[in-house]
Amino acid sequence: MFHSEIIERFKDTPTPFFYYNLDLLKESLKIVNEESSKYGYHVHYALKANSNIEILETIEAYGLGADCVSGNEVTRAISCGFPSEKIAFAGVGKSDEEINIGLENDIFCFNCESIPELIVIDELAQKKNKIANIALRINPNVEANTHYYITTGLEENKFGINRWELEEVLEILKTLKNINLIGLHFHIGSQITDLNDFKGLCLRVNEIQEWFYDHQIIVDHINVGGGLGINYENPEEEPIPDFKSYFKLFHDLLDLRPQQELHFELGRSIVGQCGTLISKALYIKKGIKTNFAIIDAGMTELIRPALYQAYHKVENLTSLAKEEERYDVVGPICESSDCFGKALTLPKTSRGDLLAIHSCGAYGEVMASQYNLRKLPKAIY
Ligand SMILES: *Cc1c(COP(=O)(O)O)cnc(C)c1O
Repeated sequence: MFHSEIIERFKDTPTPFFYYNLDLLKESLKIVNEESSKYGYHVHYALKANSNIEILETIEAYGLGADCVSGNEVTRAISCGFPSEKIAFAGVGKSDEEINIGLENDIFCFNCESIPELIVIDELAQKKNKIANIALRINPNVEANTHYYITTGLEENKFGINRWELEEVLEILKTLKNINLIGLHFHIGSQITDLNDFKGLCLRVNEIQEWFYDHQIIVDHINVGGGLGINYENPEEEPIPDFKSYFKLFHDLLDLRPQQELHFELGRSIVGQCGTLISKALYIKKGIKTNFAIIDAGMTELIRPALYQAYHKVENLTSLAKEEERYDVVGPICESSDCFGKALTLPKTSRGDLLAIHSCGAYGEVMASQYNLRKLPKAIY
Protein backbone atom coordinates (compact mmCIF):
# COMPACT_ATOMS: atom_id res chain seq x y z
CA MET A 1 0.00 0.00 0.00
CA PHE A 2 2.69 2.36 1.18
CA HIS A 3 4.78 1.64 -1.90
CA SER A 4 2.40 2.21 -4.75
CA GLU A 5 0.86 5.17 -2.95
CA ILE A 6 4.21 6.84 -2.41
CA ILE A 7 5.46 6.13 -5.90
CA GLU A 8 2.32 7.42 -7.57
CA ARG A 9 2.05 10.49 -5.43
CA PHE A 10 5.67 11.52 -5.47
CA LYS A 11 7.07 10.33 -8.75
CA ASP A 12 7.77 13.91 -9.80
CA THR A 13 8.80 15.21 -6.38
CA PRO A 14 12.48 16.05 -6.13
CA THR A 15 14.33 13.68 -3.79
CA PRO A 16 15.49 13.33 -1.07
CA PHE A 17 12.61 14.32 1.18
CA PHE A 18 11.06 13.35 4.48
CA TYR A 19 7.62 11.81 4.30
CA TYR A 20 5.59 12.05 7.51
CA ASN A 21 2.58 9.90 8.25
CA LEU A 22 0.43 12.13 10.45
CA ASP A 23 -2.22 9.42 10.87
CA LEU A 24 0.33 7.20 12.57
CA LEU A 25 1.44 10.12 14.71
CA LYS A 26 -2.15 10.75 15.81
CA GLU A 27 -2.69 7.09 16.56
CA SER A 28 0.48 7.07 18.70
CA LEU A 29 -0.64 10.20 20.55
CA LYS A 30 -4.03 8.70 21.21
CA ILE A 31 -2.41 5.67 22.83
CA VAL A 32 0.05 7.80 24.80
CA ASN A 33 -2.89 9.73 26.20
CA GLU A 34 -4.98 6.64 26.94
CA GLU A 35 -2.17 4.86 28.76
CA SER A 36 -0.74 7.84 30.66
CA SER A 37 -4.10 9.20 31.74
CA LYS A 38 -4.89 5.91 33.50
CA TYR A 39 -2.50 7.11 36.18
CA GLY A 40 -2.88 10.87 35.78
CA TYR A 41 0.63 11.28 34.35
CA HIS A 42 1.81 14.33 32.42
CA VAL A 43 3.61 13.82 29.12
CA HIS A 44 5.85 16.48 27.62
CA TYR A 45 6.97 16.04 24.05
CA ALA A 46 10.74 16.47 23.61
CA LEU A 47 10.96 18.97 20.75
CA LYS A 48 14.50 18.11 19.92
CA ALA A 49 13.38 14.83 18.31
CA ASN A 50 11.44 16.71 15.63
CA SER A 51 10.46 20.36 15.72
CA ASN A 52 8.52 20.67 12.46
CA ILE A 53 5.61 23.02 12.88
CA GLU A 54 2.99 20.61 11.48
CA ILE A 55 4.21 17.89 13.79
CA LEU A 56 4.26 20.20 16.80
CA GLU A 57 0.77 21.48 16.10
CA THR A 58 -0.50 17.92 15.81
CA ILE A 59 1.10 16.97 19.12
CA GLU A 60 -0.11 20.12 20.84
CA ALA A 61 -3.68 19.34 19.77
CA TYR A 62 -3.49 16.18 21.90
CA GLY A 63 -2.75 18.26 24.96
CA LEU A 64 0.85 17.27 25.60
CA GLY A 65 3.32 19.62 27.24
CA ALA A 66 6.73 20.44 25.78
CA ASP A 67 10.26 19.60 26.81
CA CYS A 68 12.75 22.06 25.36
CA VAL A 69 16.54 22.16 25.31
CA SER A 70 17.15 25.62 23.85
CA GLY A 71 15.65 29.08 23.96
CA ASN A 72 14.58 28.73 20.36
CA GLU A 73 12.73 25.53 21.18
CA VAL A 74 10.88 27.35 23.96
CA THR A 75 9.91 30.07 21.49
CA ARG A 76 8.88 27.50 18.87
CA ALA A 77 6.80 25.53 21.37
CA ILE A 78 4.93 28.66 22.39
CA SER A 79 4.34 29.75 18.81
CA CYS A 80 2.87 26.31 18.07
CA GLY A 81 0.40 26.69 20.90
CA PHE A 82 1.99 24.80 23.78
CA PRO A 83 0.96 26.60 26.98
CA SER A 84 4.00 28.01 28.81
CA GLU A 85 2.84 26.40 32.03
CA LYS A 86 3.45 23.02 30.36
CA ILE A 87 6.99 23.78 29.16
CA ALA A 88 10.04 22.27 30.84
CA PHE A 89 13.44 23.62 29.84
CA ALA A 90 16.45 21.30 30.18
CA GLY A 91 20.06 21.42 29.01
CA VAL A 92 23.54 21.54 30.56
CA GLY A 93 24.48 24.84 28.94
CA LYS A 94 21.62 27.30 29.00
CA SER A 95 22.85 30.77 28.03
CA ASP A 96 21.67 33.92 29.84
CA GLU A 97 19.62 34.85 26.80
CA GLU A 98 17.91 31.44 26.82
CA ILE A 99 17.20 31.56 30.54
CA ASN A 100 15.64 34.98 30.03
CA ILE A 101 13.34 33.56 27.34
CA GLY A 102 12.16 31.00 29.87
CA LEU A 103 11.68 33.63 32.56
CA GLU A 104 9.80 36.03 30.31
CA ASN A 105 7.40 33.29 29.34
CA ASP A 106 6.88 32.03 32.90
CA ILE A 107 7.54 28.44 31.88
CA PHE A 108 6.57 25.54 34.09
CA CYS A 109 10.09 24.63 35.13
CA PHE A 110 13.82 24.88 34.47
CA ASN A 111 15.52 21.52 34.81
CA CYS A 112 18.81 22.62 36.38
CA GLU A 113 21.93 20.65 35.83
CA SER A 114 24.61 22.29 38.03
CA ILE A 115 25.21 24.56 41.00
CA PRO A 116 26.58 27.43 38.88
CA GLU A 117 23.43 27.26 36.75
CA LEU A 118 21.21 27.58 39.83
CA ILE A 119 23.10 30.72 40.82
CA VAL A 120 22.75 32.26 37.36
CA ILE A 121 19.01 31.51 37.12
CA ASP A 122 18.52 33.06 40.55
CA GLU A 123 20.42 36.22 39.51
CA LEU A 124 18.53 36.60 36.24
CA ALA A 125 15.18 35.96 37.93
CA GLN A 126 16.01 38.57 40.56
CA LYS A 127 16.69 41.15 37.84
CA LYS A 128 13.23 40.50 36.45
CA ASN A 129 11.65 40.36 39.86
CA LYS A 130 10.46 36.83 39.26
CA ILE A 131 10.62 33.53 41.03
CA ALA A 132 11.82 30.74 38.76
CA ASN A 133 10.45 27.24 39.28
CA ILE A 134 13.21 24.71 39.07
CA ALA A 135 13.69 20.96 39.19
CA LEU A 136 17.06 19.49 40.02
CA ARG A 137 18.28 17.20 37.29
CA ILE A 138 19.92 14.47 39.27
CA ASN A 139 22.31 12.05 37.72
CA PRO A 140 20.90 8.74 38.94
CA ASN A 141 23.95 6.71 37.91
CA VAL A 142 21.79 4.14 36.19
CA GLU A 143 23.08 2.20 33.22
CA ALA A 144 20.99 2.24 30.06
CA ASN A 145 21.70 -0.42 27.47
CA THR A 146 21.90 1.85 24.50
CA HIS A 147 24.63 3.40 22.39
CA TYR A 148 27.42 4.97 24.44
CA TYR A 149 26.78 8.41 22.91
CA ILE A 150 23.14 8.46 23.98
CA THR A 151 23.65 7.22 27.53
CA THR A 152 23.20 10.16 29.86
CA GLY A 153 22.55 8.84 33.34
CA LEU A 154 26.02 7.79 34.47
CA GLU A 155 28.27 9.78 36.80
CA GLU A 156 30.88 10.08 34.06
CA ASN A 157 28.41 11.90 31.78
CA LYS A 158 28.20 15.68 31.65
CA PHE A 159 24.50 15.67 32.56
CA GLY A 160 22.87 16.42 35.86
CA ILE A 161 23.94 16.92 39.44
CA ASN A 162 25.69 14.01 41.09
CA ARG A 163 24.40 12.62 44.34
CA TRP A 164 27.41 13.60 46.43
CA GLU A 165 26.73 17.25 45.53
CA LEU A 166 23.20 17.28 46.90
CA GLU A 167 24.05 18.43 50.45
CA GLU A 168 25.81 21.43 48.99
CA VAL A 169 22.91 22.10 46.61
CA LEU A 170 20.44 22.22 49.49
CA GLU A 171 22.68 24.64 51.41
CA ILE A 172 22.97 26.92 48.39
CA LEU A 173 19.25 26.73 47.61
CA LYS A 174 18.53 28.22 51.05
CA THR A 175 20.39 31.36 49.99
CA LEU A 176 18.77 31.71 46.55
CA LYS A 177 15.61 33.75 47.01
CA ASN A 178 14.38 33.85 43.43
CA ILE A 179 14.30 30.14 42.91
CA ASN A 180 11.56 27.76 43.92
CA LEU A 181 12.40 24.05 44.03
CA ILE A 182 9.37 22.20 42.67
CA GLY A 183 10.76 18.97 41.32
CA LEU A 184 13.36 16.31 40.74
CA HIS A 185 14.29 15.40 37.20
CA PHE A 186 16.00 12.36 35.72
CA HIS A 187 16.80 11.23 32.20
CA ILE A 188 18.98 8.17 31.63
CA GLY A 189 19.36 8.09 27.87
CA SER A 190 17.64 7.42 24.60
CA GLN A 191 16.58 4.44 22.48
CA ILE A 192 16.11 2.24 25.54
CA THR A 193 14.28 -0.94 24.54
CA ASP A 194 14.87 -2.99 27.67
CA LEU A 195 12.26 -1.89 30.19
CA ASN A 196 14.51 -3.21 32.97
CA ASP A 197 16.60 -0.08 32.55
CA PHE A 198 13.57 1.98 33.58
CA LYS A 199 13.04 -0.39 36.47
CA GLY A 200 16.56 0.48 37.61
CA LEU A 201 15.65 4.15 37.32
CA CYS A 202 12.49 3.75 39.42
CA LEU A 203 14.36 2.02 42.23
CA ARG A 204 17.04 4.70 42.21
CA VAL A 205 14.48 7.50 42.23
CA ASN A 206 12.84 5.87 45.24
CA GLU A 207 16.18 5.92 47.07
CA ILE A 208 16.84 9.53 46.15
CA GLN A 209 13.36 10.51 47.27
CA GLU A 210 14.11 8.87 50.65
CA TRP A 211 17.21 11.01 50.92
CA PHE A 212 15.20 14.17 50.29
CA TYR A 213 12.54 13.00 52.68
CA ASP A 214 15.21 12.62 55.37
CA HIS A 215 16.08 16.24 54.66
CA GLN A 216 12.45 17.27 55.12
CA ILE A 217 11.87 17.87 51.42
CA ILE A 218 8.98 16.54 49.38
CA VAL A 219 8.82 18.11 45.94
CA ASP A 220 5.55 18.35 44.03
CA HIS A 221 6.86 16.99 40.75
CA ILE A 222 8.92 14.01 39.72
CA ASN A 223 10.09 13.96 36.11
CA VAL A 224 11.56 10.73 34.78
CA GLY A 225 12.55 12.07 31.35
CA GLY A 226 12.17 10.10 28.15
CA GLY A 227 14.18 7.51 26.34
CA LEU A 228 11.68 4.81 25.40
CA GLY A 229 13.04 3.19 22.24
CA ILE A 230 11.45 2.16 18.97
CA ASN A 231 11.83 -0.93 16.79
CA TYR A 232 14.27 0.04 14.02
CA GLU A 233 14.72 -3.58 12.84
CA ASN A 234 11.05 -4.25 12.10
CA PRO A 235 9.21 -0.94 12.04
CA GLU A 236 6.09 -2.37 10.38
CA GLU A 237 5.69 -4.98 13.13
CA GLU A 238 5.77 -2.36 15.85
CA PRO A 239 4.77 1.05 14.50
CA ILE A 240 3.72 2.14 17.99
CA PRO A 241 5.91 1.38 21.00
CA ASP A 242 4.52 -0.44 24.02
CA PHE A 243 3.37 2.63 25.94
CA LYS A 244 1.06 0.50 28.03
CA SER A 245 3.84 -1.52 29.67
CA TYR A 246 6.03 1.55 29.91
CA PHE A 247 3.63 3.68 31.95
CA LYS A 248 2.48 0.68 33.97
CA LEU A 249 6.06 -0.04 35.00
CA PHE A 250 6.36 3.39 36.60
CA HIS A 251 2.98 2.97 38.22
CA ASP A 252 4.07 -0.37 39.70
CA LEU A 253 7.57 0.54 40.81
CA LEU A 254 7.81 4.23 41.57
CA ASP A 255 6.89 5.32 45.08
CA LEU A 256 5.18 8.66 44.69
CA ARG A 257 4.17 10.61 47.77
CA PRO A 258 0.54 11.67 47.96
CA GLN A 259 0.01 14.77 45.79
CA GLN A 260 3.20 14.18 43.83
CA GLU A 261 2.75 14.40 40.09
CA LEU A 262 4.72 12.35 37.60
CA HIS A 263 6.04 13.79 34.34
CA PHE A 264 7.57 12.19 31.26
CA GLU A 265 9.51 13.72 28.38
CA LEU A 266 9.08 11.49 25.35
CA GLY A 267 10.59 12.27 21.98
CA ARG A 268 11.62 9.37 19.80
CA SER A 269 8.84 7.01 20.89
CA ILE A 270 6.19 9.51 19.77
CA VAL A 271 7.54 10.60 16.38
CA GLY A 272 10.20 8.05 15.40
CA GLN A 273 8.11 5.71 13.27
CA CYS A 274 6.05 8.37 11.54
CA GLY A 275 8.88 9.64 9.34
CA THR A 276 10.49 8.02 6.29
CA LEU A 277 13.35 9.40 4.26
CA ILE A 278 12.66 8.92 0.56
CA SER A 279 15.65 8.89 -1.73
CA LYS A 280 16.51 7.94 -5.28
CA ALA A 281 19.26 5.60 -6.46
CA LEU A 282 21.75 7.59 -8.51
CA TYR A 283 24.30 4.97 -9.49
CA ILE A 284 24.96 1.30 -8.99
CA LYS A 285 28.67 0.78 -8.79
CA LYS A 286 30.53 -2.54 -8.69
CA GLY A 287 32.58 -3.10 -5.57
CA ILE A 288 34.95 -5.86 -4.51
CA LYS A 289 32.62 -7.83 -2.22
CA THR A 290 29.30 -6.10 -2.75
CA ASN A 291 27.93 -3.45 -5.04
CA PHE A 292 27.39 0.10 -3.98
CA ALA A 293 23.96 1.63 -4.31
CA ILE A 294 24.77 5.33 -4.32
CA ILE A 295 21.66 7.26 -3.39
CA ASP A 296 20.84 10.95 -3.32
CA ALA A 297 20.31 11.12 0.47
CA GLY A 298 23.27 11.10 2.78
CA MET A 299 24.44 11.99 6.25
CA THR A 300 23.31 15.53 5.53
CA GLU A 301 19.68 14.32 5.70
CA LEU A 302 20.16 11.50 8.22
CA ILE A 303 23.31 11.53 10.31
CA ARG A 304 22.36 8.82 12.81
CA PRO A 305 24.15 5.94 11.02
CA ALA A 306 27.35 8.00 10.74
CA LEU A 307 27.07 9.43 14.24
CA TYR A 308 26.13 6.40 16.29
CA GLN A 309 26.16 3.42 13.95
CA ALA A 310 22.38 3.48 13.98
CA TYR A 311 20.51 0.96 11.90
CA HIS A 312 17.61 2.04 9.71
CA LYS A 313 15.70 -0.39 7.58
CA VAL A 314 16.19 0.34 3.88
CA GLU A 315 13.64 -0.74 1.32
CA ASN A 316 13.51 -0.44 -2.45
CA LEU A 317 10.02 0.86 -3.25
CA THR A 318 10.29 0.66 -7.02
CA SER A 319 11.99 -2.57 -7.95
CA LEU A 320 9.76 -5.54 -8.67
CA ALA A 321 12.77 -7.74 -9.44
CA LYS A 322 12.67 -11.25 -7.97
CA GLU A 323 16.44 -11.34 -8.05
CA GLU A 324 18.20 -10.05 -4.95
CA GLU A 325 21.65 -8.56 -4.57
CA ARG A 326 23.80 -7.25 -1.79
CA TYR A 327 24.52 -3.56 -1.66
CA ASP A 328 26.36 -1.11 0.50
CA VAL A 329 23.79 1.69 0.48
CA VAL A 330 25.78 4.90 0.59
CA GLY A 331 25.20 8.62 0.25
CA PRO A 332 27.01 11.14 -1.93
CA ILE A 333 28.87 12.97 0.86
CA CYS A 334 32.66 12.98 0.96
CA GLU A 335 32.94 10.89 4.15
CA SER A 336 33.33 7.12 4.38
CA SER A 337 30.90 7.04 7.30
CA ASP A 338 28.21 8.32 4.92
CA CYS A 339 26.71 4.85 4.69
CA PHE A 340 23.20 3.65 5.51
CA GLY A 341 24.07 -0.01 5.66
CA LYS A 342 26.65 -2.53 4.50
CA ALA A 343 25.85 -5.61 2.45
CA LEU A 344 22.11 -5.09 2.65
CA THR A 345 20.04 -7.54 0.65
CA LEU A 346 17.69 -5.69 -1.69
CA PRO A 347 15.86 -6.59 -4.87
CA LYS A 348 18.05 -5.78 -7.85
CA THR A 349 18.31 -2.02 -7.77
CA SER A 350 18.68 0.33 -10.71
CA ARG A 351 19.29 3.99 -11.26
CA GLY A 352 16.10 5.94 -10.58
CA ASP A 353 14.58 3.49 -8.06
CA LEU A 354 13.00 5.09 -4.99
CA LEU A 355 14.38 3.87 -1.68
CA ALA A 356 12.70 4.28 1.69
CA ILE A 357 14.82 4.65 4.80
CA HIS A 358 12.45 3.86 7.63
CA SER A 359 12.01 5.15 11.19
CA CYS A 360 13.38 8.63 10.50
CA GLY A 361 10.79 10.71 12.35
CA ALA A 362 13.07 11.35 15.33
CA TYR A 363 16.56 12.86 15.18
CA GLY A 364 16.44 12.83 11.38
CA GLU A 365 15.42 16.09 9.79
CA VAL A 366 16.28 18.08 12.94
CA MET A 367 19.91 17.05 12.54
CA ALA A 368 20.08 17.78 8.82
CA SER A 369 22.96 19.96 7.72
CA GLN A 370 24.12 21.78 4.62
CA TYR A 371 27.54 20.15 4.59
CA ASN A 372 28.89 20.12 1.03
CA LEU A 373 26.55 23.10 0.45
CA ARG A 374 23.63 20.77 0.01
CA LYS A 375 20.03 21.91 0.17
CA LEU A 376 18.11 21.19 3.34
CA PRO A 377 15.57 18.42 2.71
CA LYS A 378 11.87 19.17 2.33
CA ALA A 379 9.11 17.60 4.40
CA ILE A 380 5.88 16.20 2.96
CA TYR A 381 2.95 15.20 5.13
C1 LIG B 1 16.50 14.04 24.56
C2 LIG B 1 15.79 14.19 25.83
C3 LIG B 1 14.55 13.62 25.99
C4 LIG B 1 13.85 12.80 24.93
O1 LIG B 1 14.53 11.62 24.70
P1 LIG B 1 13.85 10.50 23.74
O2 LIG B 1 14.84 9.40 23.77
O3 LIG B 1 13.71 11.10 22.39
O4 LIG B 1 12.55 10.12 24.34
C5 LIG B 1 13.91 13.82 27.20
N1 LIG B 1 14.46 14.56 28.18
C6 LIG B 1 15.67 15.13 28.05
C7 LIG B 1 16.22 15.92 29.16
C8 LIG B 1 16.38 14.96 26.88
O5 LIG B 1 17.58 15.50 26.77
